Amino acid sequence: MSNEMRCIGCGAVLQSDDATKAGYVPQSSLNKEDVICKRCFRLKHYNEIQDVNMTSDDFLTMLNTLGDRDGIIVNVIDVFDFQGSWINGLKRIVGNKKVILAANKIDLLPKLINKNRVELWIKHLAKELGMKPDDVVLISAVKNQGIDDLLETIEREREGKDVYIVGTTNVGKSTLINKLIERSIGEKDVITTSHFPGTTLDLIDIPLGDGTFMFDTPGIIQAHQMTHFVTDEELKVIMPKEEIKPRNYQLNEGQTLFLGGLVRIDYVSGGRRSLNCFVSNRLNIHRTKSANAEDLWHRQIGELLTPPGSKAFNFDALRQHTLSVKDKKQDIIISGLGFITVDAGAVVEVYAPAQVDVYLRPSIL
Ligand code: GDP
Repeated sequence: MSNEMRCIGCGAVLQSDDATKAGYVPQSSLNKEDVICKRCFRLKHYNEIQDVNMTSDDFLTMLNTLGDRDGIIVNVIDVFDFQGSWINGLKRIVGNKKVILAANKIDLLPKLINKNRVELWIKHLAKELGMKPDDVVLISAVKNQGIDDLLETIEREREGKDVYIVGTTNVGKSTLINKLIERSIGEKDVITTSHFPGTTLDLIDIPLGDGTFMFDTPGIIQAHQMTHFVTDEELKVIMPKEEIKPRNYQLNEGQTLFLGGLVRIDYVSGGRRSLNCFVSNRLNIHRTKSANAEDLWHRQIGELLTPPGSKAFNFDALRQHTLSVKDKKQDIIISGLGFITVDAGAVVEVYAPAQVDVYLRPSIL
């Protein structure tokens, strides 16, 4: 039966239903012999990796079958959306393997940030999630920043072992792997084979030249938190595409900022001061009096306060966070949207959809 046919490159079961999933071939190729999937085809002929995705359960099952194979893990995360790029359950399968966190999309953060502080924050968050990375390397796969550093770190940490590259979808894993392929082995020698016969592992291996391999694993599908509240088009407004230009607002107590219509930030106490907003340059920020905010929000959602682009916003599923910035400058993180830097001595109330994490971190400025 056609669903038992496997790609002779990576061993994935061939299918023609979903081009973003493992083993995809056009329907016309399904019944031929010695078929390789579209992803292996591109890798073989263009030295280019394509996204394939699987659910996190499938992914964990897949990685579990690696058992005690020796190797190190490179986990690609999105610096702008750490929570969204975290793989739940990764700790369990990492076991004693070394982990390098490759924090991608560093080009989105303004140049004035302190990179050491970003690294410290990432280490801190990882620790809270139960993982102790051996290294954190800040990179931009698109802008080619930090790639040499990452390669050196991999080379140092792997001690001759294999390398598994993991990440949720959209963190930039394919972009990175394509850069790594270009750098480490040039145009030639890219091969794909199934190292785990009898499984649907679909690991693609890239030889490192000493009998060891770098494996690209499928991306783990993780719906962006914000996809619950906005359309795909609106998500493009929310997700920054270029370096963020900070927008600084001088506020008096009792004033409010709206980030689109998704999040309301009431400045409660601390005297006149600035709230410096680091969100997508395309996201509309609106200032008003806190006393009018509730009424304005309900009336203008989907109009003045957008995204979301419609009135269908669940005001009953909001959570209120009271944040007190005590003795040092801190960033209020609004997961998936960005952050707001506030100097010490301020109390701020944030109203955001309950699924969206809101918390303070030491400022990275
Ligand atoms: P994957 O699903 O993890 O394989 O992610 P892709 O490589 O397909 O990238 C997802 C999106 O992130 C694409 O729109 C990329 O252009 C973008 N992207 C990838 N790397 C970077 C980066 O370093 N900086 C920025 N700003 N965008 C990136």
